[in-house]
Amino acid sequence: MVSDSLDPLHGLDPEQLRAVTAPAGPVCILAGAGTGKTRAIIHRIAHRVRSGDVAGRHVLAVTFTARAAGEMRDRLRRLGIRGVSARTFHVAALRQLRYFAPRLFGGRPLPELLDSKARLVGAAASAVRLKADPAEVRDLAAEIEWAKSCLTDPDEYPAAAAKAQREAPYEYDVVAAVYTQYEKLKRSAGLMDFEDLLRAAIWAIEEHPDVAAQVRSQYRHFVVDEYQDVNPLQQRLLDAWLADRDDLTVVGDASQTIYSFAGASADYLVSFPRRYPDCVLVRLTRDYRSTPQIVALANTVIRQARGSHARLRLTLVGQRPPGPEPQLRSYPDEVAEAAAVAEQCRELIAGGTPAREIAVLFRTNAQSETYEQALAEAGVPYVVRGGERFFERDEVRRAMVAIRAAARTEEPRDDLAQAVSEALTATGWQPGAPPSGGAARERWEALAALARLAEEWAADAEQPLSLADFHAELLRRAANQHPPEVEGVTLASLHAAKGLEWDAVFIVGLVDGSVPISHARTPEQLEEERRLLYVGITRARTVLWLTWGAARTPGGWSRRPSRFLPYQAQPELAAAAGRMPRRRRQAAVVTCRICGAVVQDGVERKLERCRDCPSDMDEELFERLRTWRLRVAQARKTPAYTVFTDATLVALAERRPTSTAELVAIRGIGPHKVALYGDAVLALIEGADPDDLPVPS
Ligand code: ATP
Ligand code: MG
Repeated sequence: MVSDSLDPLHGLDPEQLRAVTAPAGPVCILAGAGTGKTRAIIHRIAHRVRSGDVAGRHVLAVTFTARAAGEMRDRLRRLGIRGVSARTFHVAALRQLRYFAPRLFGGRPLPELLDSKARLVGAAASAVRLKADPAEVRDLAAEIEWAKSCLTDPDEYPAAAAKAQREAPYEYDVVAAVYTQYEKLKRSAGLMDFEDLLRAAIWAIEEHPDVAAQVRSQYRHFVVDEYQDVNPLQQRLLDAWLADRDDLTVVGDASQTIYSFAGASADYLVSFPRRYPDCVLVRLTRDYRSTPQIVALANTVIRQARGSHARLRLTLVGQRPPGPEPQLRSYPDEVAEAAAVAEQCRELIAGGTPAREIAVLFRTNAQSETYEQALAEAGVPYVVRGGERFFERDEVRRAMVAIRAAARTEEPRDDLAQAVSEALTATGWQPGAPPSGGAARERWEALAALARLAEEWAADAEQPLSLADFHAELLRRAANQHPPEVEGVTLASLHAAKGLEWDAVFIVGLVDGSVPISHARTPEQLEEERRLLYVGITRARTVLWLTWGAARTPGGWSRRPSRFLPYQAQPELAAAAGRMPRRRRQAAVVTCRICGAVVQDGVERKLERCRDCPSDMDEELFERLRTWRLRVAQARKTPAYTVFTDATLVALAERRPTSTAELVAIRGIGPHKVALYGDAVLALIEGADPDDLPVPS
């Protein structure tokens, strides 16, 4: 009899159980955030290994971040399962290439891996006589990454970019020339980028039958988490691993697609049941992660989604007991915002929430610094995700040297934790004595994480472990990019937070221009920004704060809060943001559905919002309404505004009425207009093409 905590069939709902116990073959879980997708795949692996159906060493589980891969391994270990490979696509490809390098490259070393494209792209731009500024270099690098992730070579780029309506910083031909040059420079410097790594792994399998045979006999059962964010290059590698087999479990949520700017496509996830008609298809809607209050906010944000993914959104049903209302808070500027967030972190920690259960999430990494400073000043430890790699930190390297040295002279003893603590003390670290805040605290926490790892590892082990064993484990973790958990508030970008969860989450800097980011312009790009906020919100278990600073610096220009925030629920916030118009003396007639203030002028009444409250208009619908209005006006030989005014079109595109009753509820649309245009307008709102609609005479 296995104990409950080790039983992979324990703690699952009936749908999860169906996925976990499905026989060998394709399985697809389509489900929203926090519904237990990752849990289901981990338990499926554990169940299959435990029941003898598969051997752990034949399983390859792929996920998108090193941290997620690490968590998968930890969770499998807690279920008593070892030997499963849980990796990112990149680490899986890298290990495969390293292993086969002697055969593939005839003894030549693998080209060195390029961490960031920026420098080489800058050089390539200069080589084709472009004077690209840093933002343009970043955008060029993004285009090259997109092209390579979509298996598009430089000569194919212009056509592919046109088809995908890419917003490139230069003409497509110019981007293609930079791309060509970048490839040349990279090759002659003996470097490879992350996409090359995947391409090389694909080439190794597709062009070398012996490599293919060996890889495929090693890996027989595949699992992909966050499958909504797979790109064509990764899919091709997955296909190469699979060959004609179909023992593949994929899980994902189209509403969490946040990498389509880089070539990812939820289509692979959505079309899975079509590609594998025999697959076991499971849908989950119970949200086990967040309080009903947080779930309600997440549902509100994603309900506004438009476009092709919007059809696939799921309404989550919160399962946890109620908790505090999510907080939407505005501050006069970013400095005040960061100070308030840091103070709140300090209070949470003082109240018993461990620092590692708190995260501060932002849109761009440049926002991190303000929070590092504020947390340091508040004496709160923090860890920057995606910052300096743990095993590359100076103090960690020195500690590993000290552990190795101690291992050489080690007397046999059975207290690993004590031995590691002594080795660390020899480097100047003192247990139980963290310095307050800042870089010194970061260094101290990194070493404390090593000490804790030794404790956990020793507690788990079946036989006494030596320092040499521990050192070998650290090397293994360094190779797999699997750092131990460092105690501290996580500072991370919204992208890096995918798949993770914390008790308390602060999403900061929520102004228009950050979320959505200013360079998101097309409807698709804006939708991806909305999904990014959705991903952020759904990371929180209990405490959630959404904050913004009106000005960047004290006394600076005032900015608008993110248009995605549903702050109609909290009118006092809009007031706090300084946008609430003064109430007039007359009786309230119409109130702004965004900030709750009374609106009086005709346009505002029609929109049911203040003019300067952010619009949540469906731009794409607005354009279709305009096209249609122009055709009607031309056919009827009347000015366009007599069909509908611009303000009415905005009101339609914002409120998207779905019935005649809702149509007439919009001021300025009376029975006469409804009789003339009602059907056409409702059809347009449902998605009709203006060209397909009859034009009234
Ligand atoms: P995301 O879309 O964010 O990746 P997910 O669907 O992968 O989320 P998990 O991370 O697997 O969700 O689960 C969310 C949380 O809910 C975890 O803390 C998990 O342990 C818990 N959980 C999942 N299923 C159950 C269940 N049946 N009973 C209790 N808790 C559960
Ligand atoms: Mg998950």
